[in-house]
Amino acid sequence: MKLKLHWQILIALLAGIVFAFLARIFGFEEFVVDKVSIFGTIFIRALRMIIVPLIVSSIISGVTGIGSAENFGRLSLKTFSYYIATSLFAILTGLILVNIIQPGVGAQLGFEQIPEGLHSNVEKLGTTLLGIIPTNPLKAMVNGDILPTIFFSLLFGFFITKAPDPYRKQLTDFFQGVFEVMMRLTHFIILFAPIGVFALIAKIVAQTGTDVFAPLASYMVTVILALTIHAVITLPTLLYFVGNISPLAHFKAMSAALLTAFSTSSSSATLPLTMDSAENNAGASNKISSFVLPLGATINMDGTALYECVAAMFIAQVYGIHLSFEQQFIVVITALLASIGAAGIPMAGLVMITIILRAVGLPLEGLGLILAVDRILDMMRTSVNVWSDSCGTVLIAKSEGETGLKVLRKKSS
Ligand code: ASP
Repeated sequence: MKLKLHWQILIALLAGIVFAFLARIFGFEEFVVDKVSIFGTIFIRALRMIIVPLIVSSIISGVTGIGSAENFGRLSLKTFSYYIATSLFAILTGLILVNIIQPGVGAQLGFEQIPEGLHSNVEKLGTTLLGIIPTNPLKAMVNGDILPTIFFSLLFGFFITKAPDPYRKQLTDFFQGVFEVMMRLTHFIILFAPIGVFALIAKIVAQTGTDVFAPLASYMVTVILALTIHAVITLPTLLYFVGNISPLAHFKAMSAALLTAFSTSSSSATLPLTMDSAENNAGASNKISSFVLPLGATINMDGTALYECVAAMFIAQVYGIHLSFEQQFIVVITALLASIGAAGIPMAGLVMITIILRAVGLPLEGLGLILAVDRILDMMRTSVNVWSDSCGTVLIAKSEGETGLKVLRKKSS
């Protein structure tokens, strides 16, 4: 039987560490840093290669999916408000914790040289927000400017649903097709993740020795703690007080989907189970769940949004770059947009961190550092993503006056 990918990555991770220690003992760490690291570079380049087509197709196919639903306006307003509000809650939870715990401060990870032009990039942050509106969307895509690309894709997807019929259907099918292809291409690239992880961790450890683990451990604790607060306190509070829903009953109803999310690290792969659990166990109607869940699997990612923010802040801390309040605000907004743009597939969130790194002018190699522990965090954030989608479904179903919900609190107030 073929070894599961997360086991492969774990083994590659450990092997990379052992290999790097051997390199340090036998004095061939230069070989690791100069030559073996090329495989890590190839992997990161391959990930960057797919960003633009992946987000364009994932957003457009997600937004066009709304078109068939009744009461488009009201439902989408509620749905998007929920997506954005909970993602922002999640990001702020992460931001507060990363500022309190400061997992990257004082870390010696061999990343001391700050690349040329970094400070001037940081100063130019103010223009980033205006830049969300592209003057030329194709140029934005060609240049890999992600924020304007997301903005244009959202609008384009929305207006496909407004086009008259032969064209609406043709374009919907076309972008759905592109998305299917991009998902497969992404999966293909992810197959090489063990090699990429091996090379990247080997390079880091060869350069720095064990110093890498202490800051990474507190980075992981920061992410996990923030995810737990969001999943166990924030979302259940909404369920309980806004929807009069029992969080525990809803958690039980969704548990199969949550476990699947954890083991696949993919909201999209989990979607059939999420819909099945939301309808058959939690009692939401097909109308609501087929509207909220597929779109949510692509654009509502609380766990990913939180993770993006903590990871970017962590990288900034490791590089010793202090981000002002204004700059942290940019991180929050870009983390939100990056989570909207991330596809519901393994490691999509990791790819998206490059957006934030670019927006605040941080070196992309910072990715190599957090890649080492990405898989386990991916499993956790994906579960939180699916959990949030499912909470949104029952909350919106309740607000639409649905009577079939099976997860309401016993004593209604
Ligand atoms: N794997 C996540 C998901 O499918 C996305 C991410 O990588 O953050 O929801």
